[in-house]
Amino acid sequence: MKQCDYGFARKPQQILVFVGASKCVTPHPSWIFVRSSRQRQGSPPRTTLAEAIIDAGETWKTDDLVHLLGRALNSRDVTTSDLLKELDSRAFHHQRNLMKQLIGEVGEGTTSVLERLYRRTVEKAHGLPAPQRQVSPTGRYRVDHWYQRYHLIIEVDGKAYHQGAAAINDIDRDNHHQAAGITTLRLTWSHVAKTPCATARLVGKILQQAGWKGKLRQCGQCSSPIEFV
Ligand SMILES: [Zn+2]
Repeated sequence: MKQCDYGFARKPQQILVFVGASKCVTPHPSWIFVRSSRQRQGSPPRTTLAEAIIDAGETWKTDDLVHLLGRALNSRDVTTSDLLKELDSRAFHHQRNLMKQLIGEVGEGTTSVLERLYRRTVEKAHGLPAPQRQVSPTGRYRVDHWYQRYHLIIEVDGKAYHQGAAAINDIDRDNHHQAAGITTLRLTWSHVAKTPCATARLVGKILQQAGWKGKLRQCGQCSSPIEFV
């Protein structure tokens, strides 16, 4: 049974193939045979998405896992409870505590995780210039990202929108910064995890209109060539 990345990660150089305890196999450079049984689904049979993600969690680095979890959970093909249930079913896991933490944080759209994802999948992947982070442009409010030269603030937040006092606070902040000549762009989890390429185009376009002379780079996930003004 093949471990499948379900399109949420780059194509691996080697694929894990679960063959059961007694099967005879011929070595192949593209496959790693594992003598263990697994649940199976689909044709050809493959491990479940939750199993594949928890497998990846054994060895992948934190940033790669955040990216993988963000894409998978946003697809709604798997839930945080599916992942935690699969993790709990394993007698041993090399990065159990890290996985628990990341599943919780990504599932809740925790801002620190979202900022890390933004930096990787939107900013770096598309060659956007690096902003100042966690700074206070006017000395009154701390912001996530500030392009001082281009008079642009970018705020990322796990929630689709704030309500009540938090929403009023957002408006106050944005109005305060607008009065200082600084525009605020607000991004949600969906903008970062679900449509990072479109978000990068948006940010790039705003920066170019403000005088950025650089060019956006096409990332491995971009579905069409970068068309830019
Ligand atoms: Zn892209």
